[in-house]
Amino acid sequence: MSSDPPEPSSAPSGLRLDAALQLLLQSGRELPGRDDPAWLQAVLDALCDLSSRDALTGLANRRQFELALAREIDRVARAGEPVLLLMVDIDHFKRVNDVHGHLVGDRVIQAVASRLTECVRPMDTVARYGGEEFAIILPNCPPTFGHAVAERIRGSIEQQPATTEAGVPIRVTISLGAAFAPQWVRSTVPLWLARADRQLYRAKAGGRNRTCLEQMPDSQVSAEEKSLLLSFSQYDFEFE
Ligand code: GH3
Ligand code: MG
Ligand code: MG
Repeated sequence: MSSDPPEPSSAPSGLRLDAALQLLLQSGRELPGRDDPAWLQAVLDALCDLSSRDALTGLANRRQFELALAREIDRVARAGEPVLLLMVDIDHFKRVNDVHGHLVGDRVIQAVASRLTECVRPMDTVARYGGEEFAIILPNCPPTFGHAVAERIRGSIEQQPATTEAGVPIRVTISLGAAFAPQWVRSTVPLWLARADRQLYRAKAGGRNRTCLEQMPDSQVSAEEKSLLLSFSQYDFEFE
């Protein structure tokens, strides 16, 4: 019996990678040479990256975003960390398409995507949730800063117009709906999304170009209550 590690190899024989390689080539991803032992891993990594990104903006796509949100839910439940979710929607975007055409609309979506990324920390996740809608996850965001953070993002989009290819400025605004995950509680992706979405709806109904943040409940869980929650199993015996 040998304990030698297996020889690194390129694609196992019979593995059909042509369509995948074509996609990677078209997306401009670079791979090591095919005889490099790291080639197959690089192909897999590149495919993973491709399937987690939005093609127009390069942001995390909805699949990747929902995975990140689920991870945060886990962290909030275990560590009680305050995490803010922002749902962002470009105001009256249909008009941009109607007046300037779909390609300029695409440029505006790309410009908003870059601004959003510039406005947040590297640890935050910015995703394109759908059409002209984005989502941002801000881990470790103190509740008292929530509204200010969202407003800073809103102001930045309002102040820096996107441009047509000819340099004509196109002003757009965004509406934001914001909700913290309930601390020390295990929420779900759809429930948390629905809470932020309700606030986005309020922001739209209230006139657009604004932020609505869900009010946190007044009563916060005390340190003593948290420790009881975490050591709950010690009482199981007494209840029997
Ligand atoms: P509201 O302020 O209520 O959000 O109004 P709105 O016009 O932004 O919203 P609505 O949902 O009516 O329109 C969104 C438009 O976004 C319609 C759709 O054609 C356009 N859209 C969605 N995805 C894309 C895209 O990838 N590129 C471009 N150019 N347009 C898109
Ligand atoms: Mg819109
Ligand atoms: Mg929309």
